[in-house]
Amino acid sequence: MEEPKKTSRRRSKVNDYICHCCRKKFPYCLNCPCGFQICETCFRENLWGISNGPTWVCPDCGRVRMTF
Ligand SMILES: [Zn+2]
Ligand SMILES: [Zn+2]
Repeated sequence: MEEPKKTSRRRSKVNDYICHCCRKKFPYCLNCPCGFQICETCFRENLWGISNGPTWVCPDCGRVRMTF
């Protein structure tokens, strides 16, 4: 008799964000639906490149996102 494989889909709730720039964990990061996450510190450092006031552009997918 074969034992039915139990595929337990354990969805561990991730409460932490990991910045894609500095790879550190944060309680909050600016994020994009594509999965891109960036912390406020890195965001400010890259502001000139991705942000234009109240919005920022995801460097991964090019989506325009609102700042906070
Ligand atoms: Zn960072
Ligand atoms: Zn994106």
